[in-house]
Amino acid sequence: MLNCEYVGNLHVHSYYSDGTGSINQIAQAARDASIDFVGINDHHTLGAKQDGLEGWHEDVLILVGMENNHKHNHYISYAVELVVPDNTEHPQEVIDAVNDQGGIGFLAHPFEKGSRFVFGGHAYTWEDWQVTGFTGISIWNYSSQWRDGISNIPIALWQAYVAPHRAITGPCPLALAKLDQLAQQRKVVAIGASDAHAVNVQYGPFKRCISPYEFLFRTVNTHILLDGELEQKLVLDKDRIYTALGNGQCFVAFDYYRSARGFRFWAEKGRELANMGEERSYEPGWWLKAVLPFEGRISLIRNGEKLFQDYGKELNYRVQKSGAYRVEVTMRNKCMTKPWIFSNYIYFR
Ligand SMILES: [Zn+2]
Ligand SMILES: [Zn+2]
Repeated sequence: MLNCEYVGNLHVHSYYSDGTGSINQIAQAARDASIDFVGINDHHTLGAKQDGLEGWHEDVLILVGMENNHKHNHYISYAVELVVPDNTEHPQEVIDAVNDQGGIGFLAHPFEKGSRFVFGGHAYTWEDWQVTGFTGISIWNYSSQWRDGISNIPIALWQAYVAPHRAITGPCPLALAKLDQLAQQRKVVAIGASDAHAVNVQYGPFKRCISPYEFLFRTVNTHILLDGELEQKLVLDKDRIYTALGNGQCFVAFDYYRSARGFRFWAEKGRELANMGEERSYEPGWWLKAVLPFEGRISLIRNGEKLFQDYGKELNYRVQKSGAYRVEVTMRNKCMTKPWIFSNYIYFR
């Protein structure tokens, strides 16, 4: 069992591109939000790494990847040492360039819809579905969802000033459906991200930082699971985190109402275990198990179809067929149902 859990916020922009925060400010925001690591993905640059800012900032690990492309086909990558050239028209070239460096990468916000009040309504969608070789998809991009929900100025003001978390409805259904389809053919990884920019905007007399880093670091996080603790050694630690992300030893959680720390999903057959991201040959005798830190409504999904759901703190299910299995959890908060936890896959082929 993988029992060491680290909570990270991925896809964060700093002032090395169009974010407003320095790396030190971002590390402080992560500390204030009680998360363990941050993945920086500035546009077209590894500037923060080149300036020596990747690494442990006291108890927060700052990792530096990048984000590629312009009008469409945004791709976020990690574990790259050299700047990957943009290629918006041929994103396969970007994916291949990341893989050639031994990196991992994710389609950043493939199905965002955009809002007519932001960027002239442009949506930075993924257009080329012939691509192969990407590690996975960011199923939940907080900033895309927030922006997609702005249908008029009062809603924009309400979301900006009163209740930014209320814009959140859960992972993008199209992204999840795409992953479920891919998972039936190959291993693929779901991550969640903030796409934080901490932009300062002004509407008439109202000036405000929209979605500050610390707030976003309490929202859509990716929790990774390791077999031992990190050691405050950058090279070793980032390799372990990237290996976990690349393998799908992670889950996506909306930590705003309740932290999902403590969630686990695994399979067991006698003394044999399979963690998220692992593949096994199907044979009778396997059980899928999950535990939650608090009660929630747990749904078990096989090949994109909901098998069953139950309310409680545990899941026990005897596997009866091959398939790509994952878990979704919702929780109750003040009489409202909220999205909470979205696991990666365990595969029985
Ligand atoms: Zn983007
Ligand atoms: Zn971005």
